[in-house]
Amino acid sequence: MQITIVCDNNAGKDGLETGWGFSCLVSGGEKTILFDTGPGRLLLDNMERLEIEPGSIDVVVLSHIHGDHTGGLDGFLGRNPEVSVYLPVSFPKQVKDGVARYGAEVIEVKEPVKICRDVYSVGQVGRLIKEQALVVRTEAGPVLIVGCAHPGVAKFVNASRKLLNSDIFLVIGGFHLEWAAGGRIRRVISALKESGVRYVGACHCCGDKSRRLFEEQFGEKFINLGAGRMIRPGDLH
Ligand SMILES: [Zn+2]
Ligand SMILES: [Zn+2]
Repeated sequence: MQITIVCDNNAGKDGLETGWGFSCLVSGGEKTILFDTGPGRLLLDNMERLEIEPGSIDVVVLSHIHGDHTGGLDGFLGRNPEVSVYLPVSFPKQVKDGVARYGAEVIEVKEPVKICRDVYSVGQVGRLIKEQALVVRTEAGPVLIVGCAHPGVAKFVNASRKLLNSDIFLVIGGFHLEWAAGGRIRRVISALKESGVRYVGACHCCGDKSRRLFEEQFGEKFINLGAGRMIRPGDLH
């Protein structure tokens, strides 16, 4: 099982473009899964640079409605409509209808759901901005992938621990701390450490300050992520 960051506002590999948003690819399991679709054209452009064939993807999971996570969806479905799209049930009807018009299967997520072997959505979480996250069982332990984590990354960690009955090995994604004060960032770091999270791959809306503080606290178990970076959890021991 491996995770490749396709879109991110942080640079991770020469030749890849950066832009505000997030998308990553989970491959090597039963199904090939695209989690979020970045801000627009960037998705297909970076996929081409990373030699990821749109046709190789079976499942698309959208974390939440914001354009920096859903902007690449139309372009992608234009290239490969033969996918199942897991989206929070709270998404507007016109978005769901739009996905269905391409011929893709729409799967509305409210409660936690198994997507394929070893891969689950933790279900729709949050009040104002409703969001789902992906949790993947790997040889090293469960990996949690979040989009923006608007409801709070610790909430997603707890939901996925409950779901898999196991501590989380690695958390990847945006933790929505770009504009947070140091005290709040430290509380989030403590919450993650206390809940047994081993590795952290902070990107997207984490912001430089929180990435620095996470690195301080997690040391070599902090992974600096950006567009084009690939992680194999099994190699991380
Ligand atoms: Zn967002
Ligand atoms: Zn975002």
